[in-house]
Amino acid sequence: MTLAYQTLERTWDVIVAGGGTAGAMAGIAAARAGASVLIVEAQGSLGGTGTNAWVTPLMRNVSGGQNLNRGLTDELKRRLHSRGDGATDPHGNDNWFNPEGLKFVLEQMLLEAGGEVLYHTHVVKPLMAGGEGQTAANHDQQTTTHIQALIVHNKGGLQSLRASTFIDATGDADVAALAGVPFHAGDEDGLHQAMSLRFTLAGVDAPRLMAFLQEHGQAQENPAFLHFWMVWGRKSSLEPLFRQAVQGSVLLERDGDYFQAFSVPGRPGELSFNCPRIRADLNDGADPWQLSAAQTDGRAAIERLTAFCRQFLPGCEAAFVGVVAPMVGVRETRRIVGEYTLSVEDILDCRKFPDSICRNHYPVDIHSVKGGAKLLHERDGEAAYFARDAYHELPFRCLVPQGVGNLLVPGRAASSTFEAQSSIRVQQNCHTMGEAAGIAAAWAAKNHAGNVRAVDVSALQAEMRRLGGLV
Ligand SMILES: Cc1cc2nc3c(=O)[nH]c(=O)nc-3n(C[C@H](O)[C@H](O)[C@H](O)COP(=O)(O)OP(=O)(O)OC[C@H]3O[C@@H](n4cnc5c(N)ncnc54)[C@H](O)[C@@H]3O)c2cc1C
Repeated sequence: MTLAYQTLERTWDVIVAGGGTAGAMAGIAAARAGASVLIVEAQGSLGGTGTNAWVTPLMRNVSGGQNLNRGLTDELKRRLHSRGDGATDPHGNDNWFNPEGLKFVLEQMLLEAGGEVLYHTHVVKPLMAGGEGQTAANHDQQTTTHIQALIVHNKGGLQSLRASTFIDATGDADVAALAGVPFHAGDEDGLHQAMSLRFTLAGVDAPRLMAFLQEHGQAQENPAFLHFWMVWGRKSSLEPLFRQAVQGSVLLERDGDYFQAFSVPGRPGELSFNCPRIRADLNDGADPWQLSAAQTDGRAAIERLTAFCRQFLPGCEAAFVGVVAPMVGVRETRRIVGEYTLSVEDILDCRKFPDSICRNHYPVDIHSVKGGAKLLHERDGEAAYFARDAYHELPFRCLVPQGVGNLLVPGRAASSTFEAQSSIRVQQNCHTMGEAAGIAAAWAAKNHAGNVRAVDVSALQAEMRRLGGLV
């Protein structure tokens, strides 16, 4: 199908599709590396899942007591902390943050670096060099095709935006898939990890709630850093309350499949919930109908969970819904086939790579729609990965899609198996992947006519180290 669109006169060195967790960092890094940068973002703010899906806090990615994601992540934390939107708990965990504050910080970092953003704009499809029929599918690993422009849709209608290098940070590999890059999606049965619609409850009396949680076997140290949870069959002390609530028709059975809440810095008396989990048959976040139905399903569950908290958790009697995340939280959809595909064996064996751009020690963490949450692999205990100071590396090749020469794909859609993706997908790794992709894309645009395979990866590693990174 040929689309009628308007071609903008302007052209950029780098266009980033999706200004989310990885994309915002990619845009900032590319702009700091001297490129002209445009981020095209569907929502009205940067940060993606970390802001608009309200996913907080950052999961810890630590080895031997040291944070593995540094560079831009460190700067982000410093900025969040300095404005009261980030905090370090009594255990030294500096990953607590306020998603609304993160929106401001990311936007400031991008604009200060000279980058631009076009909000409320959806990427529709890439325009390939050589015309409609030219996609990655026509090419083998030795030859590649190029993206010339992205067709986007916004209040101005359809427009085409040109650049030398593109970064697909949509999380769903929207650009890569439409460019013909091969991809995998879901597990061996094609089922994806569960989606969640996150929300907050405000008006919580945190000290009272803390006292109650402590009496009920969920240790807490400070009302500013509450964390409590319940998953059926996982020995949570809150399980009897959930059972009572199900028997009293306050909750449905499936509301106890995953329940978890955290405090939020800068928002006293407010809790962020890592739930409700969306109905199991709605698990494909790249299917617009399922995504829409997930919003409806999640909102109904939020009503039930709010009623539960008010009725069963002292300190929550007067609580009210503060935020329902504008974006459904999507854990996994398409994963590109890149020049290297990270496997769970790479993770468990702590594999190191000559083109490493990121270190990871976050566990395999599958929120399966087949039931329960799988946090660790069955090789738990034997594998090198479970040593306290262990980590594996993520190669740059995981961001390089097969068949397209001027595209990088950082974030949760990077090239990995279903199990491996569940480990590398946490936000701080997405930051680091974004940072690497941004610098590489800028260099590719400036020096190699957009060709990301021509980038000197040892120079990229040296640059990331100079900027504080551990690679
Ligand atoms: C419910 C849930 C709980 C989680 N819990 C944690 C946690 O506690 N801690 C943690 O560290 N990680 C957690 N994760 C994982 C982590 O948050 C995500 O894997 C990560 O944020 C994904 O980053 P990304 O950049 O790949 O995608 P995103 O951050 O989702 O960014 C994608 C961006 O692209 C935009 N976009 C998409 N399609 C288009 C398009 N066609 N055109 C224009 N823009 C587009 C989106 O609006 C979005 O801004 C969780 C994830 C979920 C879903």
